[in-house]
Amino acid sequence: MVGIQVGAVSFVDEGTDKVLDGFQEVAAIDTLFLATFTYGRGIAGRQLRGQPLPDHGKQEYDDAFRGGNFATPHPQFYRRTSIAPEKAPDHAAYDVIADVLPAARRRRMRLYCWFEDVFRRDVPGFDQAAEIDLHGKPTGLACHRNPNTRNFWLGLAEDYLRSYDVDGLMWGSERQGPLDNALAASHGGGGSGVACFCPHCLEAARQAAIDVDRAREGYLALERWAAALRGGQRPADGAFVTFWRLLVRYPELLAWERLWNEGLNDTYRDLYRLAKSIAPDKGIGWHVWHNNSFSPFYRAEQDYAEFAKYSDFLKVVMYNNCGGPRLAQYVRNAQATLFADLTPEQVLEFTYGVQQYRERPLDRIAAEGLSADYVLRETRRAVTGAGPRLKIWPGIDIDIPTGASDKKTRPEDVYQAVRAAFQGGAHGVLLSRKYSEMKLANLEAAGRAVRELAPA
Ligand SMILES: [Zn+2]
Repeated sequence: MVGIQVGAVSFVDEGTDKVLDGFQEVAAIDTLFLATFTYGRGIAGRQLRGQPLPDHGKQEYDDAFRGGNFATPHPQFYRRTSIAPEKAPDHAAYDVIADVLPAARRRRMRLYCWFEDVFRRDVPGFDQAAEIDLHGKPTGLACHRNPNTRNFWLGLAEDYLRSYDVDGLMWGSERQGPLDNALAASHGGGGSGVACFCPHCLEAARQAAIDVDRAREGYLALERWAAALRGGQRPADGAFVTFWRLLVRYPELLAWERLWNEGLNDTYRDLYRLAKSIAPDKGIGWHVWHNNSFSPFYRAEQDYAEFAKYSDFLKVVMYNNCGGPRLAQYVRNAQATLFADLTPEQVLEFTYGVQQYRERPLDRIAAEGLSADYVLRETRRAVTGAGPRLKIWPGIDIDIPTGASDKKTRPEDVYQAVRAAFQGGAHGVLLSRKYSEMKLANLEAAGRAVRELAPA
C-alpha cells in the first residue's frame, strides 16, 4: 500500500487525470485517501498563507476556506443527529468521490474516504453536540459520548459506504482527555479544555460509580496547580510530587480521563461494527495522532493490541520532519507544569527514555527534525503491538508547514523515512498530510524508495 492524502482542491485546480497520472508516475501511488470531510486546513484546501506554494496547483491562497463534506451528503443518513450534514461550499457543485472514483478504478488505484474530527462552532446543530468544560462552557469540540456526535459519524460512514463503492474508510481524532489536557501534555492543537461534563458524560460517570462532585473538585484543584506553576510558583515539595498528591487525593482525575477515552473508543467500536455490517470486506481504520510519539500519557491510551479488536489498519503518524519542532514544543509544554522540577533538556532525555527512541539534543531537533531511525523504531513498536491481523501504515510527512527557522522536508528525508518504515515491517506507507502542500521532488523521493524496495 503506497497511499497519499489528497483533497478536493487539487483535482479541481489541476485536473483529475493529471493528478492521478502524476501520482502513479512520480511516486508509485496505488491508494488514495481522499479528504472527504473536515472543517480544518490540515488535510483540505490549498497551502496555508505564510507558507510557500508548492510547484504545482493554482498559485493562490484560499483564505476563505470553510470545509464540510466534499462529497454529497444524502439526508436520509443524518436523521438521528442535530449536526447539519453540510456540503462544503468551497466546491459547491463538485463531488470529490463521484469524480475521482471512476478515474481511480481505470488505473486500478484503491480509494479510501478520509474524514476527521474537526468541526466549526457555527455548523448548524453543532451546539447540541459540543463538549461542556469544567466551568460549564461549551467547547468547539464534539463530545464523543453525545448521541448527536456518534450518530453524525455513523451517518457519515454509512453515507460513504452505501452511496459510493469505495474501498474503505479512515477516521481520525487528534484529541486527548481532560487529565492530559490539564497538563498540556501535547505538541499543541487538539484542544486544551478540561471536559467533558455534559449530561451524557455525567450520566456515564454515575453508571460507573464515579463521584461527579469529587471529579469536579479534583479538576479545579489541578487547574489551580497548573496555573500556579505556569505563573512561576514552585511548591516546596516540587511540581511532580504535588501532582501525584492530587492524583492520590482525587483518583477521580484518572477515572474521568478513562471515561473520556471510553467515549472515543466506543466511537471506534461503533464505526467498526457499522462498517463491517454494511461491507465486511472493506477496510476501516484510524489515523493515530502525532502526540503518540511525544507524550507517554497519550501513548499509554493508544494500545495497539486493543485497536486490533476493532480496526483493520492504523495510520500511525511518524512525521519525522515536523516531528523535530513538534517534539521541542511538547517538551516546553510538559516542562511548564508536571516536569517543572527538571530542565527542558532533562525533560527531553526523559521523553527519549520512556518513549524508546533517541534523537538529537534539544537545541537541534527543531531545526534538524527527527531521523529515519525514529520512523524505524516507531514502526517496529507498532507492528509488534498490533499482532498479525492489524495492518500498520506509517504516516510519512512531506512538507507539513513548520516555523521559519524549523526543519523543512528534503527529498533525502522522505527517501530514508519510507525505507525505514518498510524496514520496520510496515504494511504500507501513507504520504501526508495533503498533496496541495507537497513539493514534487519530495514526492518523487518516496517513489524512488518504493521502486527500489519493490521493483515492478
Ligand atoms: Zn460529554
